[in-house]
Amino acid sequence: MEKNEIIAMGEAHLLHTYNRFPIVLDHGDGMYLYETDGTKYLDFAAGIAVFAFGYGNKTYNDALKEQIDKLVHTSNLYYNEPSVTAAKLFCEASGMDRVFFTNSGTEAIEGAIKLARKYYYNKHGKSDSEIISMNHSFHGRSMGAVSVTGKKAYREPFEPLIGGVVFAEFNDLNDVLSKVNEKTCAIIMETVQGEGGIYPADETFLREIRKFCTEHDICLILDEIQCGMGRTGAMFAYQKYGIEPDIMTSAKALGCGVPVGCFACKEAFAAMVPGDHGSTYGGNPFVTKAVETVFGMFKDSNILQNVNETAAYLWDALEAVKKDFPNVVSGHRGLGLMQGLVLSVPVGPVVKEVIAQGCILISAGTDVIRFVPPLIAKPCHVDEMISCLRAALSKQ
Ligand SMILES: *Cc1c(COP(=O)(O)O)cnc(C)c1O
Repeated sequence: MEKNEIIAMGEAHLLHTYNRFPIVLDHGDGMYLYETDGTKYLDFAAGIAVFAFGYGNKTYNDALKEQIDKLVHTSNLYYNEPSVTAAKLFCEASGMDRVFFTNSGTEAIEGAIKLARKYYYNKHGKSDSEIISMNHSFHGRSMGAVSVTGKKAYREPFEPLIGGVVFAEFNDLNDVLSKVNEKTCAIIMETVQGEGGIYPADETFLREIRKFCTEHDICLILDEIQCGMGRTGAMFAYQKYGIEPDIMTSAKALGCGVPVGCFACKEAFAAMVPGDHGSTYGGNPFVTKAVETVFGMFKDSNILQNVNETAAYLWDALEAVKKDFPNVVSGHRGLGLMQGLVLSVPVGPVVKEVIAQGCILISAGTDVIRFVPPLIAKPCHVDEMISCLRAALSKQ
């Protein structure tokens, strides 16, 4: 099909929930994506922080092809080797004790909320629990996940949502603590806010929240869906802070492209029993083979070291951009290969122009350009991206 035909067909039949850029991606190779007409793009978005090892990785592709021929799906009523192996590897990497595999990030959040509520219910024998979530947070689009998402525009049209959610200011300890009462069952936050504009948690804030939750037997839920799986230079971002959550979520780079997420917890918070939760597809052998393979790739490569090195290089390069474009760039934040440049002009046209220059970038919120490249990115890729970015910023 011709490019224009594909776009027209998409506009005619897909529910219009995205303003798609007019490019038609066909295949990928390493750090690059190609359109059906051969146009090449450097990829600095990784399918929104998903494709950590780049496109066409042979180890990954071979493992999945082999699993397809063996067994794609069976039910959670039986055991299979990929899912138990993936669960063990996840627990070892995260410090958690038990994991439930889901089909997406939003479902992982649903599970985490249910688990925290069940923990409270078991303890108090009542169903009046409250959850504290953060302003500007993003946790997904299902009814439960949107209920704890700190952006009113995402919530309002879909109300009434699940009850008992209170919002507080991220990185403001006093504000969070002022929202706590005897019904508080959980505090949920992203270790590094992604969609809301790339805000890492302050170290003191997160440590104090951890301490408070322990002292008051409140579940600390950390959403590591975007910032986990090596993105910050540690396997999970909270490991950079030297703390552990009670319940956590993962997805995005967990399966590097196949639909898989999970929620996991410490043994003491494993409050669910048979009948409390389930999923037909959740963690089937195909997706958990991907998880198992991804963890193997982390182990067999020096990818975390690469993240730390490239992240430092990216940091300096973006600082230079900030200095050279003071009228357009007003801030720079982030952790590891999860960085954001705050613009004082609308971000949409800039992203569009960067794409026209041959590099795929995405925004976060209305004023931030988000840099979440595949974790295999090297300084030479940063240089290439920066030249596209500079060209685009020069046109603003
Ligand atoms: C993407 C994201 C989600 C939702 O994950 P989906 O797989 O899109 O459902 C939840 N939390 C965070 C922090 C995310 O970045």
